[in-house]
Amino acid sequence: MRLSKFFLPLLKENPVEAQIVSHRLMLRAGLIKQEASGLYSWLPLGLRVLDKVETIVSEELEKAGCVRLLMPTLQSTDLWKESGRYDALGKEMLRFNDRHERELLYSPTCEEMIVNIFRTFVKSYKQLPLNLFQIQWKFRDEIRPRFGVMRGREFYMKDGYSFHSSLEDATREYANMYDAYHAIFKRLGLTSIAVAADSGAIGGNLSHEFQVLAENGESQVYYDPAFDDIRDGKLNVTSEQMRELYAAADELHDPAKCPVPADKLRTARGIEVGHIFLLGTKYTDAMNVDVTDADGKPLRVQMGTYGIGVSRLLGAIIEASHDEGGIIWPENVAPYQVGLINMRANDEECTKAAEEIYSKLHLAGVETLYDDTDDSAGKKFAGMDLIGLPWQLVVGPRGVKSGVVELKNRKTGEKVEVSFAEAIERVSATTPKKLAA
Ligand code: ATP
Ligand code: MG
Repeated sequence: MRLSKFFLPLLKENPVEAQIVSHRLMLRAGLIKQEASGLYSWLPLGLRVLDKVETIVSEELEKAGCVRLLMPTLQSTDLWKESGRYDALGKEMLRFNDRHERELLYSPTCEEMIVNIFRTFVKSYKQLPLNLFQIQWKFRDEIRPRFGVMRGREFYMKDGYSFHSSLEDATREYANMYDAYHAIFKRLGLTSIAVAADSGAIGGNLSHEFQVLAENGESQVYYDPAFDDIRDGKLNVTSEQMRELYAAADELHDPAKCPVPADKLRTARGIEVGHIFLLGTKYTDAMNVDVTDADGKPLRVQMGTYGIGVSRLLGAIIEASHDEGGIIWPENVAPYQVGLINMRANDEECTKAAEEIYSKLHLAGVETLYDDTDDSAGKKFAGMDLIGLPWQLVVGPRGVKSGVVELKNRKTGEKVEVSFAEAIERVSATTPKKLAA
């Protein structure tokens, strides 16, 4: 993509309304624009990251045996009256009437609708287990939307629901989702801590929140110090080993029962990026959902439900990965892998070299943002640092004469002078490969 043709409105000044670094950087780097309280437009660069996060979430879930579908954002309130949650959600749920005076709501979550889809089509225990998910916009009329996309009113969520013929099987799937969530967050460049949590309004008997540690998190988390070593790359553990480590959210942390000695225990703020629940029969009881068992008798269906805050994840990733210059995107979610900077757009030799590198990067399958504008060098460098692409490749008149370009790693700040071919080679070597289908 040529910057001269792109739409990238960068802000020089810190927006006064943004209190935390991820919100500030998302506005300044031209990722989002606020439209009303808790409502955002996703500008082209932000949308590219959102798409990548969505793809990773979806691919990992499909690998774990889940099946994707899509439900509408609007629903009739009838099913919510049946489940008994019509009143429970109160003012968070946005309700309105259509032209026929039928009451609709903008989905805050979709247990009722998915249960209704399930009971329409699934009649036998032989069709179980089944794990269905969607990635769709949700609306919750939060009392205090804040921190940009971290607590929006409209937000993008992965919501998954599983159906089982026994509690034992639902528990097995709960562990499967637990592992899949760690794999997802790892691929997004994050270290997540699964903490035992209160299952709140959704109900059920077992629940874990997936927290990413960050100064600006809204939850307080207590955890085994091993998690810090995992994050810093000093310790490698399997998901099963991780499950054994102590971690608890504020409400459930009990110093008397905590196996980690008080002087070793760590506590920090966390951002909740995912939440899984073992539901049991809460919804299938309320909505009367049975399948037939092997003897043709009715069998009550067991459920689990699993959420991921897809749009919130962008804020969490930035909180975990930035410096004073701007964002540092992990390779797997970076909107482009490399920013190619033509230092002298009005110099014929320099432009010829930059164009040649641009087309070779394209051929090598590297997503490139090519700054072909005639802005000042200072503006170009500051802009590239701010938007945080993993690599910067600088083509200047002096280097071109001797056949070299400068390659900068955004994360380490390391700069090297290399030949055109080597620069292209190095960048394409770290470009994330697509998962085989
Ligand atoms: P929170 O405790 O942060 O209000 P929740 O427990 O109400 O979240 P869930 O119903 O578990 O949220 O939703 C699944 C995921 O959706 C959460 O783990 C979170 O990452 C995300 N999420 C929830 N509310 C919002 C919001 N207002 N804005 C952005 N993401 C959200
Ligand atoms: Mg929650």
